[in-house]
Amino acid sequence: MIEFKDVTKTFNTKEGDLTAVSDVNLTIEDGEIYGIVGYSGAGKSTLVRMLNGLETPTTGEIDINGDKMSTLSGSALRQKRQKIGMIFQHFNLLWSRTVIQNIMFPLEVAGVPRKERLEKAQNLVELVGLKGREHAYPSELSGGQKQRVGVARALANDPEILISDEATSALDPQTTDEVLDLLLEINKRLNLSIVLITHEMHAIRKICDHVAVMEAGQVVEQGTVFEVFRNPKQEITKRFVNEEV
Ligand code: ATP
Ligand code: MG
Repeated sequence: MIEFKDVTKTFNTKEGDLTAVSDVNLTIEDGEIYGIVGYSGAGKSTLVRMLNGLETPTTGEIDINGDKMSTLSGSALRQKRQKIGMIFQHFNLLWSRTVIQNIMFPLEVAGVPRKERLEKAQNLVELVGLKGREHAYPSELSGGQKQRVGVARALANDPEILISDEATSALDPQTTDEVLDLLLEINKRLNLSIVLITHEMHAIRKICDHVAVMEAGQVVEQGTVFEVFRNPKQEITKRFVNEEV
């Protein structure tokens, strides 16, 4: 279970203090897909960057499966971070490495022996449907295939959670659906919790169990996807639900 408890993040900028995330409380249960929606600048990425330790909360606490993030440092923090997989809009692949080498990279960092690395990566290649393309370079792949590499790489260290930050935003609708199907399959097969940040309500409706709506750093509405779509309470939520195509 993942818990955000009264989490606030304030950045000190040249223009003064900017509160990107404001007093957020969220609980993400084991094995669920949790959607986060909100317009640009709402604080979505900052929220998940705190989840994987790229940012630290100014106040509040994040608890991942019983570990308080604020109490971890040094190698304990590094180990925890290896257990948080992340996929991105622009894939963030290593362009000079092949598919299999990209997937093996986090295992290399974690110090996994070569034979085990290769075996693990080969299984992941199969899981994400890239068999036969192991030795291709990212530049030789379609957008959907690149994101499959991203997913496989994020799974390499058997993460406790997978975070997807706008990972389908650069993809066409059909490829988006294929990647969402893959995420759903992985969620079911591995019982892996997924946090899905998106602008697309279609993606939320298709694969999420719960959804939180963010506006100006705050979570203004949250609930089951069924309930939020059936009875959106906030203006902004109504806009998201009704804009759906
Ligand atoms: P988008 O949908 O465009 O990705 P977002 O919801 O992910 O937006 P964030 O990237 O979390 O939004 O940004 C929230 C606010 O925090 C923005 O006003 C942004 O400018 C600010 N912000 C984010 N990171 C920093 C930083 N490192 N320093 C200063 N301000 C930041
Ligand atoms: Mg963002």
